[in-house]
Amino acid sequence: MGFDNEATYLRATHAGGVPGFHSQYDKALERVEAEFGETHPVYIDGKEVHASSTFADRSPSDTERVLGHFQQAGRDEAGRAVKAALRAFPDWAETDWRERVDIFRRGADLLSGQKFDLAALMSHENGKNRAEAMADVDEAIDLVRWYAHVMEEEAGFEQEMGRYLENERSRSLLKPYGVWGVISPFNFPLAIAAGMTTGAVLTGNTAVLKPASDTPFMAVRLYQALREAGLPDGVLNLVTGPGRSVGAAIVENPDVSGLIFTGSREVGLLSFRAFTGDFPKPVITELGGKNPVIVSEHADLGKAVPGVALGAFGYGGQKCSATSRVYVHRTLKEDFLQGLVEFTEGLRVGDPTDPDVYMGPLINEKAYRKYQAYVDLARQDGTVLVGGQALTEGPFGRGYFVAPTVVDGLPEDHRLLREELFVPFLDVAAVDSLEEGIARSNGSEYGLTAGIFTEDPEERVEYFRKVRAGVVYANREQGATTGAVIGTQPFVGWKHSGISGKGAGGLYYLLQFLQEQSQTYYV
Ligand code: NAD
Repeated sequence: MGFDNEATYLRATHAGGVPGFHSQYDKALERVEAEFGETHPVYIDGKEVHASSTFADRSPSDTERVLGHFQQAGRDEAGRAVKAALRAFPDWAETDWRERVDIFRRGADLLSGQKFDLAALMSHENGKNRAEAMADVDEAIDLVRWYAHVMEEEAGFEQEMGRYLENERSRSLLKPYGVWGVISPFNFPLAIAAGMTTGAVLTGNTAVLKPASDTPFMAVRLYQALREAGLPDGVLNLVTGPGRSVGAAIVENPDVSGLIFTGSREVGLLSFRAFTGDFPKPVITELGGKNPVIVSEHADLGKAVPGVALGAFGYGGQKCSATSRVYVHRTLKEDFLQGLVEFTEGLRVGDPTDPDVYMGPLINEKAYRKYQAYVDLARQDGTVLVGGQALTEGPFGRGYFVAPTVVDGLPEDHRLLREELFVPFLDVAAVDSLEEGIARSNGSEYGLTAGIFTEDPEERVEYFRKVRAGVVYANREQGATTGAVIGTQPFVGWKHSGISGKGAGGLYYLLQFLQEQSQTYYV
């Protein structure tokens, strides 16, 4: 069986099916809204478990809207979940890989069957607009199917090896490690949780999944689909609750053999140190970015303007791949900025379940306050060209809405140009050559995504040769540095953006969850 992307929205646009997309999404909204306010358990050893307290999952569009109540699990539940995963490991590791592949394929089909409900729920839970929420759901489905496909292509990672001696028979096998901790972020609450979980569990490990506290609902839905698909008791366990208690308890548990973490650099480094402090164990961290784009003197501004704006402001800049720095050739700067400001002013901010809205709210109050502090700093040390304010009037009053913001004139080493901000904030600077643009692009501790706009193929080649980031694009109008697709653009961070050097949705991802054993006997 091959691999096809789910591509729901793209297919709808090609087939004239956009109105149908929206009517299905509308119906799904009604269905999911009818279930708001329920209490959800965590899942340990296949059983529903209730902790001593719960927390409310509120919509960032309207903080009075409670989507559900989730368990405030702590160290006790995390410990029980690890024990359950440890008990389930021997049988699951011995389960034929083809059976594991079948279960995950069924899981992907189950997610696909409810994708409009999942997208509608996601818009409420983390504020993604309709198309972006569906892209996240599609990516989750794609990741599960892609890893199943790779497992099959690699025939379960077993091969015969050579014979040094005539009577020698040797094989190489990749085998799972044991229990993995899977810690996921809010911004791709289904895709990243699904991808990391599949990587760990499809390869024969068992796992404890801990989602971000802002997006527990998506993880519960993922768990339920994979269970319904046939995952046995204890193979996957789900605990919700604060990172500093339940997350840290997973990281610190000596029975956890591997850790996969996607999130901020700060927490990633903390977890890395805590996890490997006493014992060398596999850790995969996928961290932040400070993603640059060059608009060369040979750029087509008709592509560069939408590409940069959509890259910077898609999901309110809350993508690890968000475009955050632009190095534009001085000769084009004025025209580029004029186009960019106009385009940005045209982006509609509002309730992300509204079909005409492009940008929903920020995820939480902390992000909202950070945005305001960054804007104050930008006004002090540079020039705000567009945006720069929180939106508080009328329907905006109960959510975390802000305006997409473009800033010019910050000094080269300013902290706003070095730190990942994770809000809709784009900085522009003029450069005099491609070399300068590349040097400034590379002058970051991060190395996740990067892009260039140029119509000159030699410039493109030169750029690809020298740019130091994991995912690089030329002339991407849909988002200068964003929107990697499973099976097409493996997603990987260099430098402080990641540790493993193997991309999610790529050919080598699964290897990270496996250890080689060579088996030799003599006849
Ligand atoms: P975060 O670091 O705040 O949280 C990530 C996860 O870690 C959450 O589940 C959180 O509860 C948990 N956590 C918090 N403290 C912990 C602790 N002490 N021990 C263990 N776990 C703990 O990140 P976020 O705000 O949810 O996500 C945004 C970040 O994720 C950004 O930096 C973004 O760039 C990054 N990200 C990277 C990629 C990538 O592929 N490189 C993809 C998406 C997001």
